[in-house]
Amino acid sequence: MFDTVPRQPDHREIEPRILKFWADCGIFGKLAERNRGKPKFKFLDGPITANNPMGVHHAWGRTYKDLFQRYHAMLGQDQRYQNGFDCQGLWVEVEVEKELGFKSKRDIETFGIDRFVEKCQERVLKYSRIQTEQSIRLGQWMDWENSYYTMSEENNYSIWHFLKKCHERGLIYEGTDVMPWCSRCGTAISDQEIATEGYRELTHKAVYFRLPIIGRENECLLVWTTTPWTLTSNVAAAVHPELDYVRARKDGDVYILAKPLLHVLGKETEVVEELKGEKLVGLRYKGPFDELGPQRGVEHRVIPWDEVSAAEGTGIVHIAPGCGKEDFLLAREFNLAVIAPLGEDGAFAGDFDWLKGMDAQAAARPIFDSLEKKGLLFEVEDYTHRYPVCWRCGQELVFRLVDEWFVSMNSLREEMKESARQVRWIPEFGLARELDWLTNMSDWCISKKRYWGLALPIFRCECGWFDVIGSREELKSEAVAGWERFEGRTPHRPWVDEIRVTCGKCGKPVARIKDVGNPWLDAGIVPFSTTHYLTSHSYWQEWFPFDFITESFPGQFRNWFYSILAMSTVLEKRSPFRTILGYAMMKGADGREMHKSWGNAIDTDEAFDKMGADVMRWVFCRHNPVQNLNFGYALGDEVRRKFLTLWNVYSFFVTYANIDGVSPASLASKPGKPSLLDRWILSRLNSLVKLSRERLDDFDPSSAPRAVEEFIDDLSVWYVRRSRRRFWKSASDTDKQAAYRTLYGCLVTLAKLLAPFMPFIAEELYQNLVQTAMRDITRLSDSSDRVPAPESVHLCAYPEPDASLIDVALEREVGLARSVVSLGRAAREKSNLKVRQPLQAVIVRLSEPAEKDALLRHADTIKEELNIRDLLFGDKGAPFPPGYAVEENPEHAIGICTELTPELENEGLVREFVRKVQNLRKSAGFEVTDRIRLHYQTSPRLAAAVRAFEDYIRRETLALVVTEESLPEPDIRESARINREPAELALKRVRE
Ligand SMILES: [Zn+2]
Ligand SMILES: [Zn+2]
Repeated sequence: MFDTVPRQPDHREIEPRILKFWADCGIFGKLAERNRGKPKFKFLDGPITANNPMGVHHAWGRTYKDLFQRYHAMLGQDQRYQNGFDCQGLWVEVEVEKELGFKSKRDIETFGIDRFVEKCQERVLKYSRIQTEQSIRLGQWMDWENSYYTMSEENNYSIWHFLKKCHERGLIYEGTDVMPWCSRCGTAISDQEIATEGYRELTHKAVYFRLPIIGRENECLLVWTTTPWTLTSNVAAAVHPELDYVRARKDGDVYILAKPLLHVLGKETEVVEELKGEKLVGLRYKGPFDELGPQRGVEHRVIPWDEVSAAEGTGIVHIAPGCGKEDFLLAREFNLAVIAPLGEDGAFAGDFDWLKGMDAQAAARPIFDSLEKKGLLFEVEDYTHRYPVCWRCGQELVFRLVDEWFVSMNSLREEMKESARQVRWIPEFGLARELDWLTNMSDWCISKKRYWGLALPIFRCECGWFDVIGSREELKSEAVAGWERFEGRTPHRPWVDEIRVTCGKCGKPVARIKDVGNPWLDAGIVPFSTTHYLTSHSYWQEWFPFDFITESFPGQFRNWFYSILAMSTVLEKRSPFRTILGYAMMKGADGREMHKSWGNAIDTDEAFDKMGADVMRWVFCRHNPVQNLNFGYALGDEVRRKFLTLWNVYSFFVTYANIDGVSPASLASKPGKPSLLDRWILSRLNSLVKLSRERLDDFDPSSAPRAVEEFIDDLSVWYVRRSRRRFWKSASDTDKQAAYRTLYGCLVTLAKLLAPFMPFIAEELYQNLVQTAMRDITRLSDSSDRVPAPESVHLCAYPEPDASLIDVALEREVGLARSVVSLGRAAREKSNLKVRQPLQAVIVRLSEPAEKDALLRHADTIKEELNIRDLLFGDKGAPFPPGYAVEENPEHAIGICTELTPELENEGLVREFVRKVQNLRKSAGFEVTDRIRLHYQTSPRLAAAVRAFEDYIRRETLALVVTEESLPEPDIRESARINREPAELALKRVRE
């Protein structure tokens, strides 16, 4: 006996029960053990930031990871199953700062770096535990005891090794650059970080101002800027040499600006001269803040720059090399002075007189006042633009001249592009995107002036000497002081800061620079650190390079993909992975970004509760990964409906199999004779298995689920619906046996096929269909040589297609017959006649005459489906006789004869009569196999019809007796109308 199946699957009951079963029976351990030593599937997990509970977008990627790992496990492949947590970096620090109520770096230093770093570690451990629990709930199978943490010593020291290799190639340098800077976090923000998620639409004050030209009375450049604070550090003004400019008079002054922007001056202007920008180059002007200390001795002049445009402003660009990246490059080219006005906190530092200590953003108004006083202000306006903000804390960034440490990328550029080309990128455009980034990448800024992160192993002396330490052992042997305070500690701040080494040039004791590393170093080294590159080279060789990684595309070209390619190229001159599956972004159901305040964000735990892990996984798997996923509960409901169909089929099977005492053993011993319908669904099943394997082998997650959905539809609305009678008591034994065997085979194979996608429901089906039934057999049979079925569906081999069962021609034929049927139904609907009313004829007009033979092989089916007596054929295009309802599509035209004979009408009446009786049976709560006595009293017309079709009625309603004589104590009675004929009906169950 199979266990009785509830009307609906309840994930709240099923999923925890299955999780417990897996844990109690150690299924995952058995799987890993069984596959050990077999051919490998090498998957590398990109680490998840262990800083908050898992988001639903994480569940998307983790579903792919689990899907392919489970699939390859069912192929019998050995795997590492190592999950990774990303632990270090600003994102964790910012959250801990919030927890502690800190406002700035000063708060951290007062609190103590050691305690702060420990708090960061604690936070990571807390959320890695929570994320682990959530992942388990998703059904993800990993060796959870063995997750890697990027804060581990092995990870950090492996990065030291990488940096040492870079240093040996001369790639590490300290550079001055103008970088986007967060004054709250007190750190530079890399281009990568800004490109990914660092812009917001903001409104600032923009200002038009005059720069008086030296040597020309009452003549000035008209210039515009959106960052007033940078005017303090202006040293040049740039024009486009080929652009048209004008000298224009207004109110007695002469203004110079680009001709297309003349309107900026307003009305009543007079153009004195038109000239090309190149004629302006070399002019000298009075700076806007010449009175400030840092401006002393600075000569301001007009320089040429091809990037100047006449799109906005005045076509003259103010240049402050200490406040902008491009400005800084121009300073190198034109040998301009570089004035760096801001300190780490984003306020004016140094000899800036009344501005000193004032926050840069807050300085706009006083700067306008100062310009006004000096007669330089022309106009102030509001200006809305996309402006960079700190991706962690939201603070508006400033551009600041900083000393940072870099890896020079120029000499690696071509090698890295070659590494990228070794990879199969899915989708293909990934390669072009990565190559584009690699072509344009500047040097890699690896330092951050923070606390919780990789301690950059760079020791630098005041005299200019620096060295990079490559390992703990090297640190120990080079240390001349501080080792005892460091020993026993992880290589983190503040403990590692205690170490001193000897300067190789001047002999002084030298400390480590205070900076920590860019967190992408942490994630970039994992192909090496997790496989023990430095400590167990042979193990590393076994697993490197990896077969497969999968992560979200946007952003990662510049982040993880970039850092693993860079580090692997330096260490091994090749890509660390062979195939990458990228997927797009998750949005809210409304297509907007998910935001709590917009009400479209979905909490992961809530999604598990409401939707269930299986349904969630299916939503992810069936989605085309190239497109953004607008995730919401409606998608889950859609999937649940589809799988309720499968559940109904499963429930149908179990109900009838239990009635007939069917078991896996009885099915194996009595195969029966497969019907055309059996052969068709088995062909569909094996085609599905074939496709699923092919697509999964190709790292395509979404094609198989779509094919599964079609198969479930075929199985339910065609195979089971058309096979229903074969499971009835009256059916012939051999045919019944074939039907059971076919349906059972479909369900068990489907459970295995679904296992990597929907691990819970697959297990549920498998346990009942195979294990429950097996227990009976084991109990009943004495034979000990029976091969037991695997304990779990996940210990089964992934199904293999049986090519001998695939009949493509048959699938095509049935598809054709079904399309004719659906067209015929549409034609019937036009006629407004009930489906139960038999009709005389259907004429099918074909554009492909060869289809006639195929359709004739399914003539009975078509006639039965359409409830029509004769199936006739004709050429497409020929007219239909009068009285036909017609429907057509590009291939076929179908006409249905709508004229009724009295005989057809009677038959229609009887069918309605049968339907009424069936409904009464249900209302009375009879079992599907119960026999009945049926009493009726009705109009002479209907009574005559009932008598004429009595055999048919008995067969359909399982009535032993159909009588007009009254029935004592019926179980149910009803007064009904059957096509306008009044009728009294009564039913009584016959006890056997
Ligand atoms: Zn910040
Ligand atoms: Zn020195």
